[in-house]
Amino acid sequence: MVDVVERDRLQTIDGAKAHLIGGRLVQGEAFFEVVDPATGAAFALCPDASQDDLNAAVAAARGAFPAWAALSYEERRAMIGALAERIAGAADDLAPLLMREHGKPLEQARMELILSGHHMIQLSALDLRDEVLRDDERGKVELRYHPLGVVGAIAPWNFPVALAMHKVAQALYTGNTLVLKPSPFTPLTTLAVGRLAADVLPAGVLNVVAGGNDLGAWMTAHPDIDKISFTGSVATGKKVMASAAQTLKRVTLELGGNDATLVLDDADLDLAAAGVARSSFYNCGQICMAIKRVYVADGVREAFLAKLVEKVSALKVGPGTTPGMDMGPIQNKPQFEKVKAYLAQALATPDVQVLTGGKVPEGNGYFIEPTIIAGLSDDAPLVCEEQFGPVLPVLGFSSVEDAIARANDSRFGLGASVWSRDAARARAVAGRLLAGTVWINRHGLNESDVPFGGMKDSGYGREHGVLGIRSYQELQVVSRPTS
Ligand code: NAD
Repeated sequence: MVDVVERDRLQTIDGAKAHLIGGRLVQGEAFFEVVDPATGAAFALCPDASQDDLNAAVAAARGAFPAWAALSYEERRAMIGALAERIAGAADDLAPLLMREHGKPLEQARMELILSGHHMIQLSALDLRDEVLRDDERGKVELRYHPLGVVGAIAPWNFPVALAMHKVAQALYTGNTLVLKPSPFTPLTTLAVGRLAADVLPAGVLNVVAGGNDLGAWMTAHPDIDKISFTGSVATGKKVMASAAQTLKRVTLELGGNDATLVLDDADLDLAAAGVARSSFYNCGQICMAIKRVYVADGVREAFLAKLVEKVSALKVGPGTTPGMDMGPIQNKPQFEKVKAYLAQALATPDVQVLTGGKVPEGNGYFIEPTIIAGLSDDAPLVCEEQFGPVLPVLGFSSVEDAIARANDSRFGLGASVWSRDAARARAVAGRLLAGTVWINRHGLNESDVPFGGMKDSGYGREHGVLGIRSYQELQVVSRPTS
């Protein structure tokens, strides 16, 4: 049952109940329920876009494209900056809605909104000038970069606003127009942000349509969308790529990870324990580049685990409405069931040790205690699959060679990290880890000027930084003889 009082309250949040299509707020006729993961109860209705709504959004984006593409980077930067400031400025108003639909603590929801604005400003500050490849007696060859046209952006639920706004900034700054689809688990704050965009962007430049997985599939097959920028699971990413192939759309896939971290015997254990605790449990472990398996040198194993357990057992778990919480619930029921299954499988394994946590509190919310489990083998599902939740396996190693081989024995390749006081040693290990990003003495930094993406099943292409944002552009070579 939808909580009608709450639903009516949400009606007062501008735009959270309507798609943004061609600069107009459109409600449509169909709706789906949005659930509060802290209670397990539906609390709002979200408009559910039809295929006609999608067609209208794509047509609006197509119509707005020539004028938007004709603007300079500076002109587009100014408008993206205005939207970024409105989002950050609305952080206090929108954070309760983001907290409610996602489950994260209120302050973390507020930070997501503020950082979204910050990243949009940084992404639209990248220097994307055309380049002269050569100018000599053989002639002048220029590299010119053009927008692709209409981008379809498909976002996941773990950082609903931030991950969507990264795509918005990159696509719009490069001169494309956009149709954005949030996850059906967390659509409302993104719709509210769409409402803010209606006031600062020309009609049709950014369209926001909410809906289920079918809507995503329609986007990947749509003949008038030129590129899909997708962030989500490996399984869906493969479907996106297969469907996009029919119209030869450009695709960028930011997919799942199973990041390994290697704590070497000369690591600063306080730094490593704090870094692992933060990376593995922030956002309830629901981060693509969270540390999801820890390999620690046998010689420092006990000391390191004592520090890690101290930090993790101090984390406070509860509804985002309760002040002072570090972690909320798992974001949605299917993910809750998945993490519980990994936990149950691990607990049923002979000789495992639960170093902290391990319980699923009673109640209707999707809460799981922050948990650390030792004694699993490398082929245990919790170790070799992506748990995407607050249950962390720790494993030992006696030789660094062995640890590198085990870390690399994975179909994932998003991130990895190594902790050591010896810079040269850490750098040598980092170079051998098969991951799109390897951090040394830290893990999970997200910076707008640094390309990000995965090797192997963790992705296809890169986003962020000049190298990543170029994936929203078409390269054209202009070549002429020396005059
Ligand atoms: P998901 O793949 O289930 O859904 C992602 C989006 O795809 C949603 O909007 C969904 O509606 C849509 N979708 C579903 N089926 C589709 C289809 N057939 N065609 C087109 N779109 C479709 O992923 P999720 O559960 O929302 O997100 C969690 C996953 O995302 C994790 O694996 C996580 O690691 C990954 N992730 C990766 C990054 C990264 O940058 N690499 C960042 C965040 C999350």
